[in-house]
Amino acid sequence: MQKIFRWWSRGPRVLFYHGVEEKILDPALQSLHLPVAAFERQIAFLRSNREIVPIDYVHECLTSRRNLDPRCVALTFDDGYKNNLRIVAPLLRAWKLPFTIFVSTKHISEGHRFPGYYIGTAILFTKSKSVHLRSIGRSFRLATQADRLSARAAVVTAVKKAPQPLVKKIVAECKELLSSANWAELDATFYSEEAMNWEDVRQVHQMGATIGSHCHDHCILHSSQQEDEVYRQLNESKSRIENNVGVCSYIAYPNGKAEDVSSVAYRATRSTGFCAGFTSIPGEINSTSDRFFAPRIFAVPDFEEFCYLLNQTRVQDRTLLMPVRGPDVTQEGTV
Ligand SMILES: [Zn+2]
Repeated sequence: MQKIFRWWSRGPRVLFYHGVEEKILDPALQSLHLPVAAFERQIAFLRSNREIVPIDYVHECLTSRRNLDPRCVALTFDDGYKNNLRIVAPLLRAWKLPFTIFVSTKHISEGHRFPGYYIGTAILFTKSKSVHLRSIGRSFRLATQADRLSARAAVVTAVKKAPQPLVKKIVAECKELLSSANWAELDATFYSEEAMNWEDVRQVHQMGATIGSHCHDHCILHSSQQEDEVYRQLNESKSRIENNVGVCSYIAYPNGKAEDVSSVAYRATRSTGFCAGFTSIPGEINSTSDRFFAPRIFAVPDFEEFCYLLNQTRVQDRTLLMPVRGPDVTQEGTV
């Protein structure tokens, strides 16, 4: 089996997680967090079967096209949840394993939670049986749990495609669906959604984490964003991380699908001084990978599926052997 794996596979993988929690109270609302037992099982598997390497090593592979050992895996965590300090960092430090956390600096600076939390919590917990959101001109029935889940999915989809000023309006409107007392109670219940502050980020950095950018406002850098907004997101996040931690060489694009990295964003990432950009498009790092459009594999909670995705380029899905390239910027000129 290992022989086949080596035959088909040509390079390291970058895995991405969000958070790890002892208890998942509401899987619909806390879907970004892995139960700690599942996380420990995955890391134990990687320690026995792979070599866990720092993100700098992956960057070196991307630039030099050397050392493309398919046994190598890098661990990354998006958003900057407080449980990265409370649970992830102590575990990985005990095993002396390198890891990277991509933080959204406005959330770190101001203690805000992420849009998905405000939208999901408001729609799943409001007492109203229907809601009209003026910001997107849509009404939703909220009579059943199924209604609420589909309304949440529709609003989250709208947010993912919206320019940043509209995202703020949608989130503000959703926040109005619950009283401040409701929010205080739900925030306490779902403490897993809390972001680190800068003191926490400095602490995880001292515990071995490389800190990278995940934009300033967790802004999705699709083609509907204004160019100056894209540059602001990149520059602001990079300079805040450099001021607080010392260095910021890498970015993980929020949401990270192909449509979430516009040609403007792709060009801006290079011109603002980042050394590499990571997507959430699955694949391996190989000699044709674009370092500003590097693939990552989502670490799903189910162990069998996790192993399948980790080894996927063997035989099951040959499309993943296709090189991952960044958006075509030739018409606008490359940097
Ligand atoms: Zn994110």
